[in-house]
Amino acid sequence: GFCMDKRNSTIESKLSANGKTLLEKRYLLRDKEGRIAEKPGELFRRVAKAIARVDSRYGYSAEITEDNFYQIMADLEFLPNSPTLMNAGTDLGQLSACFVLPVEDSLKSIFKSLQDMSLIHQSGGGTGFSFSNLRPKGDPVRSTEGVASGPLSFMTIFDKATDVIKQGGRRRGANMGVLRVDHPDIIEFIEAKENEDMLHNFNLSVGVTDEFMEAVSQKGDYALVNPRTGKVKERLKARDVFDRILNCAWQTGDPGLLFLDEINRRHPMSAIGTIESTNPCGEVPLLPYESCNLGSINLARMVKEGAIDWEKLKETTRTGVHFLDNVIDANKYPLPEIGQRTKQNRKIGLGVMGFAAMLARLGIPYDCREGIETAEKVMKFIREESVKKSVELGEQRGSFPDFHRSALAKDYPAMRNATVNTVAPTGSLSIIANTTSGIEPMFALTYSRNVMGTRLTEIDPVFEEIARKHGFYSSQLMEEIASTGSLQNSPNIPEKTRRIFATALEIEPQCHVRMQAAFQKHVDNAVAKTVNLPHEATVEDFREIYTLAYRLKCKGIAAYRYGSKAEQVLEIGETG
Ligand code: ADP
Repeated sequence: GFCMDKRNSTIESKLSANGKTLLEKRYLLRDKEGRIAEKPGELFRRVAKAIARVDSRYGYSAEITEDNFYQIMADLEFLPNSPTLMNAGTDLGQLSACFVLPVEDSLKSIFKSLQDMSLIHQSGGGTGFSFSNLRPKGDPVRSTEGVASGPLSFMTIFDKATDVIKQGGRRRGANMGVLRVDHPDIIEFIEAKENEDMLHNFNLSVGVTDEFMEAVSQKGDYALVNPRTGKVKERLKARDVFDRILNCAWQTGDPGLLFLDEINRRHPMSAIGTIESTNPCGEVPLLPYESCNLGSINLARMVKEGAIDWEKLKETTRTGVHFLDNVIDANKYPLPEIGQRTKQNRKIGLGVMGFAAMLARLGIPYDCREGIETAEKVMKFIREESVKKSVELGEQRGSFPDFHRSALAKDYPAMRNATVNTVAPTGSLSIIANTTSGIEPMFALTYSRNVMGTRLTEIDPVFEEIARKHGFYSSQLMEEIASTGSLQNSPNIPEKTRRIFATALEIEPQCHVRMQAAFQKHVDNAVAKTVNLPHEATVEDFREIYTLAYRLKCKGIAAYRYGSKAEQVLEIGETG
């Protein structure tokens, strides 16, 4: 009707050209002939309706909830992860982005996992695996009297299968592969990506322990243990292994580290199991067969007249938690085990995007004390409001079934969700919301994006907005900075402004890690962050970053040196 059309046109005016293109390419429903069959406003309505409907199961009216859900999405203040936007209210109905699957030391388990992965990828989710339980290469295989081929050879199969599935054209699958640092095949794992043809669809993380990190700092050695027999195979110098990790990360961007002991210390469900892996981008540590659905608040839209709008942030947080909790019930799980485990703990991950854009609107540089303090203040607030809302939902609808076995039971009377917060990369969501991704600084003020083979040059929307507002926008300036994407060589721009618009590669590497740690303090899942380094960065820079991340109690760390992969998603100006 008329009302609907009017709403649609206001939504269309909020969307950027890129956001609109992305929605059209991958999110809007299509009819049998492949023609686009909904408008962006109708997408948000479809999602809001499907997720709000859950309220009626608990004896509440879904109508007001639906309008609230619709409104925060249509205003681009909150967006759920891509699978929810794509699949809510459809027959597929798989709504989660994050999964972890077990891989036990038998062919049966390995190939079940492979099949499970294919179903998850097909539905738009990403998968994480620990391969630490597989017997090492050369170990005896009793049933065939042969020898085992080891974790790496099996990972190659998962990688190939991922290529083949390609998720029905919407997105190619993404995986995390973890191997414990004390696995006998660890060196082969660390160096896997030195071969450029290997494991394209995997992020690799070495699962390190406190014992290992301690041995690195003491220049001691540590044992490699065969997971099948529990016997020590040999001892290695921790420093040598760490050096190999750093060298390969410097060269290829992989591996990162997962700090397994910190992850498990902070996991409220440690009575139930030990976490060995995260989802593909590292922001959600999960037990085998758990899944998690994510959503992100657009912080750039939480600013009013140059200050943080705390009231709005509070309401958006509460609605976001409500939304994500409903997703758990609305979800159609790809496997019965996943549905069962997920409903047992009801983990959700409400996070943020547009953090750097918010800082720019507040006039605060990312790389300064005030930037870090703002991060802590904002995330602490979101955490407190999320927990409050989850407690309320627990009182109204019941706590998650394992609540009384969780560490949360001593602090809270009830709780609906074992975890509530996370910081996702928001790779696609931030394009739809037209803001900076996750908690990353602006990558460049102008850049060319490689989208499915086409190169587009763009001016960062927040930069453009503020440049216009403060009267220094000119097409001449934009041309000047087109090739560098940076303001640092523009003498006519005030120093403070230049600092506010310092880009990822201009920000001290240390500062990236401190920002990640600031968020991690108040996040019960984990924080996705890439420490972006300039091409000239050294192996020693990587050492400093990886060590600092451990010291500051991050749950993991990944760094990437500009230009170290042949094909990268983001490129500055004309280079690359
Ligand atoms: P989005 O912006 O599309 O919602 P994010 O970039 O925030 O997604 O990533 C969140 C999580 O979604 C990842 O950690 C991963 O688990 C999953 N994911 C992201 N991209 C893919 C992909 N291409 N294939 C499968 N899963 C993905």
